[in-house]
Amino acid sequence: MGECSNTGVVIQMQDYSIHDGDGVRTTIFLAGCKLRCQWCANPESWTPKRKLVYYKHKCTNCMKCSLACPMNLVPCKMERPNDVCITCGKCVDVCPQKALDIACVEKNSEDLLKKIERDALFFRFTGGGVTFSGGEPFLQHKFMRVLLDRFEELGIDSWVETCGYFDFESVKDLLPKFSHIFMDIKHMDSKKHKEFTGCGNELILENAKKIYATGVPMTIRIPTIAEVNLDDKNLEQTAQFINKNLPTADVELLPYHELGKAKYISLGIEDKFVKFTTPTVEQLNHASEIFKNHGIEIVEYR
Ligand code: SF4
Ligand code: SF4
Repeated sequence: MGECSNTGVVIQMQDYSIHDGDGVRTTIFLAGCKLRCQWCANPESWTPKRKLVYYKHKCTNCMKCSLACPMNLVPCKMERPNDVCITCGKCVDVCPQKALDIACVEKNSEDLLKKIERDALFFRFTGGGVTFSGGEPFLQHKFMRVLLDRFEELGIDSWVETCGYFDFESVKDLLPKFSHIFMDIKHMDSKKHKEFTGCGNELILENAKKIYATGVPMTIRIPTIAEVNLDDKNLEQTAQFINKNLPTADVELLPYHELGKAKYISLGIEDKFVKFTTPTVEQLNHASEIFKNHGIEIVEYR
């Protein structure tokens, strides 16, 4: 039995999700990730630190937020809010437009479980359940351990979405509690992987094999980005790795999109946004063919 914690840092809970597994699901996004993928659409997930988020498109410039701030800040005018804000949330409470929010809030397992129990009927009727995502959810394995034990007692189905960059020994007791695991493989060349994500791929590929050995069904998710990993050499190498080491895993191709840009703006880190090219239908079909030629099924949850 590994270590447990009754509290964790949750970025967001998404109800009625139909893209993160079978049936209707509640997705629990847990904060913290060691990778820094240049195309990341969830930059608020990088660290578990509380953050002020400002959605400019909702703001009407009423200035109620600045009157409420004990630090005499003007939340709607700050260029890098998280350099100075103490995240007390007073401005969030008074904003009539919901243009401000605090991301990465510490949650108690009991409060979270109460909410999940309310959704249990939906799960039962649709064959759904809970999906852990992030960030990298396994970084909060102590919190997940508490939640997963209760989900098991309540008969709630659990899936997980991981980037694969975690210490396997710390989480191996949790893996059999999932009925499905989504795992990313981003690039087969470790140097390229490091260039685009900040970390090499060795730990991820080793963990993919270890997860597969547990017998839990796997879907390999591949963010497909023209400038990064859509060349034939990389696609062939990825298909060969899956065919050889994860032979019953299927593959989902996730085409790059620019929707994450709004998040960078709302966190005041627009300068960190890197623009890539969305793949064409032809490029995606070509990539699918390469995997199918290796006997790998292509699936679509999103
Ligand atoms: S209170 Fe909300 S709507 Fe009003 S200025 Fe501040 S952020 Fe904008
Ligand atoms: S969260 Fe608190 S400190 Fe930060 S801007 Fe809002 S009111 Fe000011």
